[in-house]
Amino acid sequence: MPVNFNVIDIQHIDAAWLQQKEILLDVLRLDKMHEIVSGNKWFKLKYYLRQAKANNKTTIATFGGAWSNHIIATAFAAKEAGLKSVGIIRGEKPAILSETLQLALTYGMELLYVTREQYRHKEALIRTFTNEDWFWVNEGGIGSLGVKGASEILTLTDRSRYTHIIAAVGTGTMLAGLILSSTKSQQIIGINSMKGNTALEEQVLKLLPANAQNNFTIFHNYHFGGYGKHPPQLIDFINNTYNQHQLPLDIVYTSKTFFAIKDLAEKTFFKPASKILMIHSGGLQGNKSLPPQVLAF
Ligand SMILES: *Cc1c(COP(=O)(O)O)cnc(C)c1O
Repeated sequence: MPVNFNVIDIQHIDAAWLQQKEILLDVLRLDKMHEIVSGNKWFKLKYYLRQAKANNKTTIATFGGAWSNHIIATAFAAKEAGLKSVGIIRGEKPAILSETLQLALTYGMELLYVTREQYRHKEALIRTFTNEDWFWVNEGGIGSLGVKGASEILTLTDRSRYTHIIAAVGTGTMLAGLILSSTKSQQIIGINSMKGNTALEEQVLKLLPANAQNNFTIFHNYHFGGYGKHPPQLIDFINNTYNQHQLPLDIVYTSKTFFAIKDLAEKTFFKPASKILMIHSGGLQGNKSLPPQVLAF
């Protein structure tokens, strides 16, 4: 299935908790771009792939865990671009590969497993690979080319309609791209999917040009226990949201973001007449890490 940039799907959400506060919520369904490589990773990779080709590299090399959206997106995007790919995977090779890793293999990615200790020291690890024709992409696609790609997300929409743009935050690369492509009067809100990463604001600022506007806020209290943690309360929330709105959310990022929007709305964070655009950044493939039947979709 090809990646489809043309079907831009904006889902309007109808709910009492929005009506009561007189606010509007639309969701930009980047998850619908592709079944596997949905969402922001594709945007973040776009200019790295171009750079690799411009530099005559043959192979994209990058990092990730067993359920990484970035690994699967890189494997697919490199293949589409006619490049080889190598995934440096955190931890011992498991007896049974995750669906993410199995699929990465079918997209032609070569998987190399390193210990968690080695994984922590990526610069040293990179130096052990002396392959001149490899182009290294940071874990999660963090970096200015990633920001450039992510800045194209909002161009898909009638973005001037919205007072608030809200998205999940991992490395902050997507948020930086959204800030770059927003107007001064818009509020860009990031929901941190990690616990205790308080350096995130600084990280986002570092990814932006020095003269960029500073119209963003990051909330740090919607991590549900930490990165990748998905307690029963979150699973129930995902299932309820799906049943009410037919909106599938992922357990790592977008569910926490949608939850945050509802919570902030109920706490009257948004003024009446606010128009919110949530970026559904994809990541649904990671839900396959759950046992079957846990989710309603
Ligand atoms: C990686 C990812 C994010 C986080 O993006 P960053 O640019 O790293 O902040 C958000 N949502 C989904 C679904 C992702 O896969």
